[in-house]
Amino acid sequence: MEHIKYDVVVVGCGFAGATAARVLAERGRSVLVIEQRSHVAGNCYDEKDPYGILVHTYGPHIFHTNQKKVYDFLSRFTKWYDYQHEVVGNVYGKYLPIPFNLNTLHEVYEPEKASRLETVLLQDYGEETRVPILKLRESDKEEIRELAEYVYENVFLHYTMKQWGQKPEEVDQSVTARVPVVLSRDNRYFQDAYQGMPLEGYTSLVDNMLSHEKITVCLNTSAKERLTLCEGKTPLLDGCPFEGAVIYTGAVDELFDCCYGRLPYRSLDFVFEHYEEEVYQPKAVVNYTVSEAYTRITEFKYLTGQKADGTTIMKEYSKPYQGKEGEIPYYAILNEENNALYNRYKEKAESCGNVILLGRLAEYKYYNIDAIVERAMEVGGNLS
Ligand code: FAD
Ligand code: UDP
Repeated sequence: MEHIKYDVVVVGCGFAGATAARVLAERGRSVLVIEQRSHVAGNCYDEKDPYGILVHTYGPHIFHTNQKKVYDFLSRFTKWYDYQHEVVGNVYGKYLPIPFNLNTLHEVYEPEKASRLETVLLQDYGEETRVPILKLRESDKEEIRELAEYVYENVFLHYTMKQWGQKPEEVDQSVTARVPVVLSRDNRYFQDAYQGMPLEGYTSLVDNMLSHEKITVCLNTSAKERLTLCEGKTPLLDGCPFEGAVIYTGAVDELFDCCYGRLPYRSLDFVFEHYEEEVYQPKAVVNYTVSEAYTRITEFKYLTGQKADGTTIMKEYSKPYQGKEGEIPYYAILNEENNALYNRYKEKAESCGNVILLGRLAEYKYYNIDAIVERAMEVGGNLS
């Protein structure tokens, strides 16, 4: 039997699957990676478009972390382009720094009012503090609540409605807290110690990660074509019992034909446009916080530092995930009901032998790249 040579099967070849596979391979395990797409790197996949511009096919990805061990691990597989991400909001035609920070404050209000508000904010919350918008709205000072209303209305409300179909106070608080009001003059989107873009792109990074004699990658193959999971039984690989661990990084409801109902996700449509202009917009990402049907426009040359005469941009449109052919679940919708449904699937998966759920889909979590790499390093490192 061919599969007797594998110790572990990993389903999915995004950062979760690739990291776990690499760590296990370096611990001497033979790993079979099964990926349904025709390429590696999952949603971080990048490729040249027809105009030769390196684009992110499944949405813009900027690497950032405070975890030195994650940065050091990934640095074994790539050099970095030193890029510090900045975002502006298009607010009625004016570009304002996002996250809303002290520079934004001074752009929005006349000098005297801005200075007064700055003093009160720093007194109440402290320098460099990151204050979630929903917390700022609860201030006991009227003028701070007024400022919070401005930020809520012009930065969060319409963008969040487009992205989630819900108001900021209706989505899980951790979601809007990702982009707090920042009490500093730092215009960067992330303040992490390590940030940058893989010099040759994410696909190349992941290719390098998977390039190990103990890793076999099987593309264009969905898990079910090779694996059978059944409650209380040992998984079957190609029809034969497989005693090793199965690390599953796909959507867990789809593993069981959505028997308890579909886990809700948001999906995205990406619309790419190419312009024979050097530059399209002032920053890599412009968030449309009060207008347009799309949430944001990304201009890739800023992210990668690529030099070219023309430029490619991408508009993002959010929509509910319905599980249609070709549709991709991007964002878990975190709330009590959905988390409870997820837990039912998790229990079912874990009763199918040595199955480990790992990744943004499989764990129904809002992981950034660094967080999933850290988790996958742990899982791969601890597997007996
Ligand atoms: P994925 O990348 O989704 O990989 C899962 C893989 O499993 C896929 O390749 C899929 O095809 C495969 N698969 C699924 N089911 C099966 C099956 N049944 N059989 C075979 N294969 C299967 N993070 C950041 O740190 N910075 C950012 O700027 C950033 N931007 C983002 C922008 C968007 C629009 C989104 C949606 C996410 C962003 N993220 C960002 C998060 C980042 O994408 C994730 O942290 C990361 O991709 C998670 O990796 P993963 O391996 O868990 O999932
Ligand atoms: N958000 C917003 N306006 C912005 C930026 C973010 O309302 O200009 C909210 C929105 O709800 C979004 C969340 O904050 O979904 C998290 O934003 P982030 O940029 O982290 O989203 P991601 O890049 O993961 O899509």
